[in-house]
Amino acid sequence: MKAAAQQFLRDAARQSGDVRQRGLIQTALGKYELKRDEKKALFQDWAGARQLAGERKREAMAHLDRHLEDFARRLEARGAQVHWASTAQQALSIIVGIARGRQVRSVVKSKAMTAEEIHLNPALEEAGMEVVESDLGEFIVQLRKEPPYHIVFPAMHLTRDEIRDLFERELGDAPSNDPEALTMVARRVLRRKYVEADLGITGANFAVAETGMIALTENEGNARLTAALPRTMITVVGVEKVIPRLADLALFWPMLATAGAGQLLSGYNTLYGGPRQPGEPDGPEEFHVVLLDNGRTALLADPEQRDALHCIRCGACLNVCPIFRNVGGHTYGTTYSGPIGSVITPHLRGLQEWKHLSYASSLCGACTEACPVKIDLHHHLLQNRRNGMAAHPR
Ligand code: SF4
Repeated sequence: MKAAAQQFLRDAARQSGDVRQRGLIQTALGKYELKRDEKKALFQDWAGARQLAGERKREAMAHLDRHLEDFARRLEARGAQVHWASTAQQALSIIVGIARGRQVRSVVKSKAMTAEEIHLNPALEEAGMEVVESDLGEFIVQLRKEPPYHIVFPAMHLTRDEIRDLFERELGDAPSNDPEALTMVARRVLRRKYVEADLGITGANFAVAETGMIALTENEGNARLTAALPRTMITVVGVEKVIPRLADLALFWPMLATAGAGQLLSGYNTLYGGPRQPGEPDGPEEFHVVLLDNGRTALLADPEQRDALHCIRCGACLNVCPIFRNVGGHTYGTTYSGPIGSVITPHLRGLQEWKHLSYASSLCGACTEACPVKIDLHHHLLQNRRNGMAAHPR
């Protein structure tokens, strides 16, 4: 058995025996389910919207090369610089190179799973830069020196008391365990960081080919400040995030918010189309977009599982998965956890080392049912089991 599989079993045994943490997750996800169902009911036709969202993503992936070229050309026409990275290593050298070239000392960063995927923070820190996460949940897990627990709710495994103790220890400031008071502590620290930062780094929820814009969804306004205040901005985006038309956002924005967080629409939805233009009061002087492949085109070449690239990273499949709910996010040992992580990680990081994740499923199909873009997740897990056995029987 591979080391990653042994570690999974050890961590799963420990976490599933942690009644306190399981209770915390069950309570949080129970509340999420109530809100999600309430918002889903406001759709005229949720099933039809899922169908359409899946078709839009299928169309995007069928012409991925053309859409990416359109996206890049339109963005560059407004003065942005687009970089193509085949691997994580290439993406890192591009980003660290840009930062070094501008003598960057401090970086402020909003939530970006692609940055987690390429291990961007350690690379920038190794190059002598300070990196601060500006999303509250990410800020909290960064203080704890641990990866996000969940792709949407990075600190969902922590209680208010634990966060108060953490702030007291790391920031010397925690008036109470009241969420608003704790948010104000983080806000005071982060406001200073935005002003001091030489470089802002964001991810992207969508890349709009028709207009050459990235679309960012968030609930705290931190990504807007990350993009608006530092002189240089870098966005790291997986190539599969491209969508053909601006109007597609009218479908994807509410679906992402509803499936991901039980909201009708997220608090802030912003489009960025380049650096600050003449006459504009804010925005970066330089705007770079790094288009990341890192195994995605190999997945595109797999006719059986290419729909895994339709994922909009809403986290809904994690929320309903009985395995995730019992073993928790850190047990997977991967950037992307839960059912979607178990499907794509063997493609992104190697089947032999990661095929065990295909067994982290009861095959109940709740993930497939929850997915707003109708990815056939539980059947893909079965296919990964078959592929794993065929390629590496032991
Ligand atoms: S696979 Fe579907 S449900 Fe899971 S994160 Fe992606 S879009 Fe959301």
